[in-house]
Amino acid sequence: MLNNIIPIPKKVEASGGILIAQPRIYTDCPEWEIFVETAVDSFSRMCFFNFEKGEGGVILTRDNALKPASYTVSIDDKAVISAPDDEGICYGIATLLQLAELEGEMLTLEKCRIEDWGDKNYRALMLDLVSSWHPLDKVLRFMDVCFFEKVPYVHLHLIDNAACRIRSKAYPKLATPKYSYSYEDIETIRNYARARGLKLIPEFDIPGHARRLVNTYPEVFGNKLSNESEIQGAVSEVGFKINTDDVICAGSDECFDGMKTLFQEVAELFPESEYIHIGGDEAYIQVWDHCPVCQKYMKDNGISDRYELYSEYVARISKFVLELGRTPIVWEGFPRKGSERIPKETIVIAWESHYNIAPDLLEDGFKIINGSWQPLYIFNNSKRWTKEDIMNWNICEWQHWWEHSAATLNPIHVPNSDKLWGAQISIWGSTYENAISAVVENLAAMSERCWNLTRRTNQINYHNMSNCMSIKLHKLIQDR
Ligand SMILES: [Zn+2]
Repeated sequence: MLNNIIPIPKKVEASGGILIAQPRIYTDCPEWEIFVETAVDSFSRMCFFNFEKGEGGVILTRDNALKPASYTVSIDDKAVISAPDDEGICYGIATLLQLAELEGEMLTLEKCRIEDWGDKNYRALMLDLVSSWHPLDKVLRFMDVCFFEKVPYVHLHLIDNAACRIRSKAYPKLATPKYSYSYEDIETIRNYARARGLKLIPEFDIPGHARRLVNTYPEVFGNKLSNESEIQGAVSEVGFKINTDDVICAGSDECFDGMKTLFQEVAELFPESEYIHIGGDEAYIQVWDHCPVCQKYMKDNGISDRYELYSEYVARISKFVLELGRTPIVWEGFPRKGSERIPKETIVIAWESHYNIAPDLLEDGFKIINGSWQPLYIFNNSKRWTKEDIMNWNICEWQHWWEHSAATLNPIHVPNSDKLWGAQISIWGSTYENAISAVVENLAAMSERCWNLTRRTNQINYHNMSNCMSIKLHKLIQDR
């Protein structure tokens, strides 16, 4: 089993022999009791009998000499996981879940010493919670996968044209009736994340993908179109049919005040979240050319065209999120023109290589995330890319199949640097049942490529490792 851990640990030394241990977990750090409970829960679900808290099995202990977010596993006459912080200890538990075998109701562990850390800290799964309704327990299963595969960031896409999955006190009509998460559900998700070292990134997607906002509160969020027929149903620059309800007004004070209220509420719903995603993708900004309120705002503020207004709007929302004490993340959707207005603390997910490309974003001083459509999207019931595609990709590379992307035919490359924070798998438009197997496989491959920037194995070995990992993980997440 030592050779089947994904991501592949930096140093593994087998010392020969087997330790047979009680199915118990113990810690000498009172603040890590929460992780003992997670380990007990995860092992019990994976092994089909009850693990317990207590001595005689695995020990979790703090070692402040280790570097941040690293861990060691030492198995000789006892099994010890050491780490300096919450991230490290959770990665250590995940390694042990992959490593452990059972003999009757005892744990069997190969004697070894593992020293391990990831090269890129940002490894994420984006969950589209809007296109399909994902009940609470399914959201938690996705989080089990993130925990098991050492993917510490979970990006929650919470509002789009079709629905809004969170509840607003200021705008109660916004939440989709019967299919939104209650305040208790959100608290459950937060607690589940915290107990697994996971960090939630809530996304409230604007100014596009906003039909739910515009249709429930048109007087607040809608554009004031004088001649709607002119733009309704017209075709956007990349060939999509424009729906004027899909974009909020970028010029009105009422709309901006409403946005501030909503982002404040998102921040309160997710108090631990250091990052808030503000959307910023695929907005039909042609609509703003037909809105007198947007036109007046542009004239009053010396903004020359709708592209600059897009950057201005992203900038205003980013600044407000910074005022809330959080760091904004945004999709690449704003144009380069006018983007000097956007605070450089804003982190950009480069995904389409169309609106803005990774080399330009880096040159302009932004920290970026690789969310390249190809091979990091899982879309619409089909697994378009395989784990092998991801193993052949690297974090410095963007690819696409879409003719409007600059990465079509010729991938885009950037040099590695601290400004390239990491990567994420995004899953869109899929039910849990259609997506989960693809998530299990593709997320692990993405995690491996971020954890180890230097390739550590060949395709045949990786394929076997992945199969072994998947079997264990499916036991953890299966329905009882
Ligand atoms: Zn407007």
